[in-house]
Formats: sequence, structure tokens, C-alpha cells
Amino acid sequence: MRPGSRRALLGLSFVLLPAAGIAYLGAVSYQEDRGIVAAKLDELFNGAELVAAQVEEEVDRTLDAVAERFQRAEPVDEEGLAELVRSYPLAARPFLIGRDGGLRYPAAAPLRAPRAASRDGDRFARDAGTCPQRGFDSCVQTIRAARRREAQLLEARRREIGTCSARGCKPTERGLAEARRTYTALARYDDSAPEALVGLARLMRRAGKNEQARQEYAALGRRFPDRSDSEGVPFGLIADLGSAEVEGDPSGFLALYRKLLGRRYAAPAAVLANVAARLRSRLAAADLTASQRAELAALDARLSAARREAAFAAALAPEVDDIARSAEKQASGRPARALAKTVVYRREADGSVVGLVIDRKMLEAVAERVDADVRRLAVGVRIVVNRMGHRASDQPAIRVLATTGFGPVLPHLTLALVNDRSLPDPLDEIVRIRGRRHLAITGGLMVLLLVGLFATIRGAARERELARQKSEFVATVSHELKTPLTSIRMFAEMLQQQVAAGDHEREQHYHGIIVKESERLGHLIANLLDYAQIERGTRRYSQQRVGAASVLEEAVATFQRLHEHAPPEIRSQIDDDVAGAEILVDREVVIQALLNLLANAVKYGGEDQPIEVQLTGRGDRVVLAVRDRGPGIPPGEQERIFRQFYRAPGAYKSSVEGTGLGLALVKRHVEAQGGAVELDSAVGVGSTFSLVFDRIV
Ligand code: ADP
Repeated sequence: MRPGSRRALLGLSFVLLPAAGIAYLGAVSYQEDRGIVAAKLDELFNGAELVAAQVEEEVDRTLDAVAERFQRAEPVDEEGLAELVRSYPLAARPFLIGRDGGLRYPAAAPLRAPRAASRDGDRFARDAGTCPQRGFDSCVQTIRAARRREAQLLEARRREIGTCSARGCKPTERGLAEARRTYTALARYDDSAPEALVGLARLMRRAGKNEQARQEYAALGRRFPDRSDSEGVPFGLIADLGSAEVEGDPSGFLALYRKLLGRRYAAPAAVLANVAARLRSRLAAADLTASQRAELAALDARLSAARREAAFAAALAPEVDDIARSAEKQASGRPARALAKTVVYRREADGSVVGLVIDRKMLEAVAERVDADVRRLAVGVRIVVNRMGHRASDQPAIRVLATTGFGPVLPHLTLALVNDRSLPDPLDEIVRIRGRRHLAITGGLMVLLLVGLFATIRGAARERELARQKSEFVATVSHELKTPLTSIRMFAEMLQQQVAAGDHEREQHYHGIIVKESERLGHLIANLLDYAQIERGTRRYSQQRVGAASVLEEAVATFQRLHEHAPPEIRSQIDDDVAGAEILVDREVVIQALLNLLANAVKYGGEDQPIEVQLTGRGDRVVLAVRDRGPGIPPGEQERIFRQFYRAPGAYKSSVEGTGLGLALVKRHVEAQGGAVELDSAVGVGSTFSLVFDRIV
């Protein structure tokens, strides 16, 4: 393919491709944008669904853990719960409803017994209850004896108190001795023994016999740890409290307080609360060590936690029946109005119901912990849990990105991915990013289009110019060939016809013209051949070391020989420091180049103007210069005159003959050998063409 048509094709593709690109972008981008926005919406919705599903799973896992915890024999205490909450944050308020529909956990009373207290007050009747097996008579006797002992206990208690007046009660010495005797006697019988022992201990304390009092309490605690008095107070507790009071040592009270909170006494909550209050006031007044104070604080905290639990139980109470009735094997949840929270519960295999009371904040905290990769979906994305029907979008500062519901576990709640309105909207962001990219691509294509258009226009202009130059060249070359040929033919014919026969001088003149014209012809043909070789890329140079001065001198000599009929005035100047300088060039080619420059100097500078040739040094370079005093070359032309076939407009007008090839050949030849061609010219002053080569040392 010709270089011209290749350039044209390239220019055309530079125009067509960007134009097609812009059209394509316009056509598909709208559709693509919509697709991408829809995909982003899907992604947001899927993110919300994923988080919701994981929250539901977490609810299930928590229920499993809570059920497992309740199934273990030990009670759910503060530490156990705290440990559970560490792994399952939703387990902060668990509850358990027994098979009977009663609330097992949390406890309704701050202090409660591990099992129902065995009311012992009616021990006499209980004894009587065993009668039938023994036969009626013995039964009657037993009951009578029991009643008698009961009456005796009462009597002894009365003596112990003594006679009462407005100032108080005062027992007599005799009365006390009597009471002691009665108690001692009654301590032998199983039914009356506990109260008799309590009475004895009381009497010992009154008498200041602390050691004996302690012994009585010890016996009471040892013999009747499981029995309680008529008020339901366990004798074990009475014994421990009594011993502690006898000792009067705060550590004893503290130990008892600890035992009490540790639910070691089976007694009605009210009794335990009473004892706790009594112990608490003793301890408040006591002189405690630092570690005792710390333990007291810890026990107090336990008590208040137990109270909180009781408050929770009270709040849960209205829901309990409903929950117990509606619980299924599958976990389900609903709002608990009394609690202003959500209850989630399920029935276990044993018929009991485990459940959790959770609030939205807890769910949000769990959702935030969920390992779904939602954070990359938008800047500052947050998770919000709301009631169904509540519109998060009502809050003007918040942007709802996606909303989804939960399954049956939390049917009344929704989960939304939101971010603040002050932060970027991910959908806008997509459109913006794509918009920017489209603009960049379209901009790039536009630039390409413009470049293509420019290149095409320029290419066309150049093609036209080249075509013009070539046709001029053909005309010039034909003329250049024809002129010398005509002269040669004319003078040769004149010689043949012996026009100047006998006139030796004229004959010589004719011969001279024929020689000069054929040399001009030869020169022209050499230039044309050179040009053809360069164009084909087959021009070879045989470079060798030559003296720069000798090259210059030979060029001048040759030139003068060519113009021997009217030799132009040529002034040579060779600087001393470069007189012996050598350059590495194809000697003939450089001489030819200099001849071209000299010919131009004569052609354009005018035959009667002197021509100067100079050999000078410039650093490590050698400059061969040809200067004329001709019309000079305007700055705008100085670059163009080195183009092939280019002839300055003035050259045509002045009818100076030429092909526009001379300088193009000079430049190519010199540059091919590592040299450079320089032009220094001013209109009206003259021109200096210089060939610059490296000097070899
Ligand atoms: P040609 O001489 O055959 O026209 P060249 O390539 O040798 O072709 O020169 C190109 C053009 O440069 C010339 O047409 C002429 O206009 C200009 N030129 C060359 N040498 C000189 C000079 N010494 N003084 C002024 N113009 C010059």
C-alpha cells in the first residue's frame, strides 16, 4: 500500500472509530445505567435480608443456650447470666415458664427459697395425722400428749415474759427457773424440741451464759435443719442467727448474710427479706475490715440484682399466661405491651417454655456484630430495627437504603439499612461515577476525532501539495533535460554542418558549450538517480577518513572547472586550527553536496557576487560553509527549502532553473553520515549553508 493511502486510511479510522464509539456509548449507556442501579438496589436489599436472617439465627441460638442453661440443675444466678450474655448478648433477660404455667425464672421475690419451705408450725396436727396406723386409742393419747406439750411450751414462754405493765414486761426469777425446767423437759420430745431449744438458748443469753446459749443453738441447728417454726422460719436459720448474735462478731453476720443470699434457707421470701434487713442493719453498725466491707458491697449488689429480677418478674407476670398458652415448638415472638419490648419464646420438649425479652437496641447491636459484608455497600451504613409500619424515612436526617422484615420470630419488626443524608447516596454515587467515566471516555473520543479530522485534512493538503510539486518536478525535469539536450544537439549540428569552419575559436566555443551542457545533464541525472536510491532506501555510503580541507578544495576546484568559461569569484578561507582536521565521510557525496550549495549560491546569489567558502572549527566539530551575498531566504521558507521538490516562490518568478531536489539531497546525504546542515540567512544580506561534521582525532 502506498504511504499516502495508508495515511489516508489511518486518518479515516481516526475519525470513524471515535464517532462509532460515541454513538455506541450513547446507545448503550442509558440501558446499562438502569441495570447497574437496579443491581445496586438488589445488592442493598440482599444485604438487609442477610443481616435479618443472621439476627434470627442469633435469636434461635440464644434460645438454645438459655434452654440448655435452664436445664442444668443449678439456678441461674447473676454470674451465670453475665457469662451467658457475654457469648449471647440477646440473653440479657431470659425467662422460663414451668410446665404448670408458673414463672420459674425470674423469681418474683428478691430472696426466695430453693424449694418450698416445709411449714412445720402444724407439727402437732401432723403427728396426729399419722395416728390411724397406730390404732385409735394410742392416737388419741399421742394427740393429747402433743397438745399438753404445746400448752406447756406456751406456759413456759409466758413465764419467760413475766407480768407486763405499761412500762414493760418483767419475769420473776422463779418464773425463769420454771420456764427453764419446762424447756429442758420438752427438749426431749421431737415435736416440742426445736422451740424448747430456742427457749433454752434465749434463757441462757438472758443469764449471760453465752457458751451454753451457743450450745443450745448448735443442738437446734444440728437436730432440726429442715424444720421451720409456725411462721415458716427455718430452725437452721434461727440457730445460725442466734449463734451469730451471741458471738456479736461481724464476720458471723456476714457469713449468715452470704448464706441467706446464697439461698441456703428454705423459707418464705418475706421471712428471708426480713432477716436480711435485720442482718443488714447489724452489719451497717458493725466495725468491718476492708475485705469484709468489700464482701458486704458485693452481697448488697447481689441483693439489688435479685430485686431487679423480681421487678422483671412482676413486669412479665401479665404476659405469662398468654405465653404459656400460645407457645409452640417453633420459636415465635410478639410485642409485650407491659414491657414495651419484644418477647420471643418457644416450648421445650419437657413442656416448659423458654423465652427472651429483647428490645430494638439489643437487636441492632447484634445486627451490627453480624458478619455480613454490608459495610462496603454504602458510606456510613447503619442498621436500624423498627416496628412494622413505622417509617424510618420519616426522619429527615436519615436515608433508608433497603428495608426487609424478619421471619415469624420477630414478625412485628423490620430491619433497615440506612445512612445519614449528609453522607453520599450509593445510587447517586454510581450514577456520578459512571457519568464521570462516560464524560472522560467521550472526551477522549472527541479528542481522537479532532486529531483524526486534523490529520485527514492535513494529509489531504500534503497529498495535494506533493502532487503539485511532483507535476512541477516532471515539468521542470523535462525542461531541465530538454534545455541542455537542445543546446547540445544544436551546437553539434552546427559543427556537423561546419557553420564555423575555419573559425577555430568559434568551434572551440561550440565544443565548450556541448561539454558544459552534457555535464549539466550528467549532474541532473546523477541527482535524480541519487534521489531514486534514497527513496528506495538502497543508497550506500563508503565512509573513510578524509581531510576536511582537501574535500573543500576539491569541491571548489571542480566547481571552477565546470564554470571555466566564466568562473565565479570564490574566496576560500581555511582556519589554521582545522587545516589538518579529518572527518569520516563518503568523500564524493560531500563534494557533491558542496557542489550543490555552490551551484545554488551562483544561481540565486547572482553570478557577479563573490562566494565565500570557509572551513572553521566549532569545539570538536568541523564546519564547511558556503556563503553568498544573494537575496537571502525569508525565515518562513528556511525550513521548507530542504523538502523534496520544494522551490521557493521567488525561484519560479526569477526563472532560475532547478528541480527542488538539490537541498533535499544535501540534507539527506549529510545526515545519513552523522552530520548536520545549518542555514543562516537574512533577506537582503545573503545566505550561509553549513555542513557540520564531527572531527576525528
Ligand atoms: P533548486 O535549486 O533546484 O530549486 P534546491 O533544493 O537546491 O532546488 O533549492 C530549493 C530552493 O531553495 C530554491 O528553489 C531556492 O528558492 C532556495 N535556495 C537555495 N539556495 C539558495 C540561496 N543560496 N539563496 C537563496 N535561495 C536559495
